[in-house]
Amino acid sequence: MRMSLRSNAVVVISAAVAVALGIAATPAESAPPTVRPAGPNQAAAVPASPADCLLPAADVYNEHEGPADYGRWLQPTGTLRGIVLFVRFPGVTPPAGELAQRTSLLSGAPAWFNQSSYGGVTLQLTFDTVWRQLPNSQTTYSEYNVDFNAQRAYVQDAVNVADAAIDFSQYDLVYVVAPSNASSLPNSPSFIASVGWGAWADGVELRHGATFGQDLSHWGYKVLNHETGHVFGLPDLYAYAADQHQAAGGWDLMGLISGPAPDLLAWHKWKLGWLADNQIVCQDGSGSTTATLTPLGASGGTKALVVRTGERDAVVVENRQVSPLDVSSSCFQPGVLVYQVTTTVGGGGIPPGSSTPVPGGPRPIRVADRLPNSTIAGCDARAAELANATLTAVNHAVTVAGVTVRVTGHSGSNRSVQVTVP
Ligand SMILES: [Zn+2]
Repeated sequence: MRMSLRSNAVVVISAAVAVALGIAATPAESAPPTVRPAGPNQAAAVPASPADCLLPAADVYNEHEGPADYGRWLQPTGTLRGIVLFVRFPGVTPPAGELAQRTSLLSGAPAWFNQSSYGGVTLQLTFDTVWRQLPNSQTTYSEYNVDFNAQRAYVQDAVNVADAAIDFSQYDLVYVVAPSNASSLPNSPSFIASVGWGAWADGVELRHGATFGQDLSHWGYKVLNHETGHVFGLPDLYAYAADQHQAAGGWDLMGLISGPAPDLLAWHKWKLGWLADNQIVCQDGSGSTTATLTPLGASGGTKALVVRTGERDAVVVENRQVSPLDVSSSCFQPGVLVYQVTTTVGGGGIPPGSSTPVPGGPRPIRVADRLPNSTIAGCDARAAELANATLTAVNHAVTVAGVTVRVTGHSGSNRSVQVTVP
């Protein structure tokens, strides 16, 4: 779930409301990428700088795959301090023991960020220890997931009732947790306020955080990582449309939170600054480039081979192996993952000047499927079609957007790959 504010205008994304419990993926893409052998005598590409593969952002109002404006989003570096508030409402008694349960549930989130960022960001969470009663009924805030002003009022009220006990000047992020029986707060949008539009306490403006509702029980702590991913500027990879998980499946936390391989894509880690430019190999134009990719889930080495295919488009190649975040299962086939990135649309597939995605249209990330129209039985239907998208053996190849990607070698968990553009 997400929500944002642009140019001091209220943005309403009603389509985002329905996403929390997910919808089964629809049939595979109508034009699947085809496989063909790479030309053995293709000339080497002219070396490009990693910066040549950065994509400028389009004029979309929500999160996107271009560089983040840290005047609006929060830069994920160093130590970030978050306060977790628990709020109740008149007439709503939280279930016995739930504050401790939810504290325990959310406690896994910092380790997730530490692992995914290779230690690049440390999230310190401080948990309040009591439910603090808000002055208004839960229905007062029921538009919190579609109306920024309602969410802002909710966060401000939560901060106000905790202000006597908490020094908010010590925190970068505010997370507000409602009890599971507050049915007017069903899901968990991030809170991202432009300067001047945040909540205020102790002389500081609080512009970043999230408001957790009933679906916290469903998703667990990773919903905090997902929502904070928005705070860092990452877009939703699932579509706010019927083909919800068709483009990214379970390959990134910003797609399916409960996916089988939910570590963040190399493109996202580069955008966030968790990968350095010298860990990215870029090809801009025709020719052929080879690289040896170390596993995404382990620190160090080259993590992505990027081919720029247009002003706002690229193809990315990365190496996904079993890691602390991408856990071994029959629904996760380790291998070389290939995907298209575009900044022509924002999170959820929202095009510029619109609030609804085009069904089957561009998505921020679209995974290239080596085996289209084939699923793995027994896997979450939302992730099954793309669960076997990876190139898992030498000479496996896939062509997408005019780029042929071929696996040329295995050495331990490293994978050598070649990209070729005619
Ligand atoms: Zn989201």
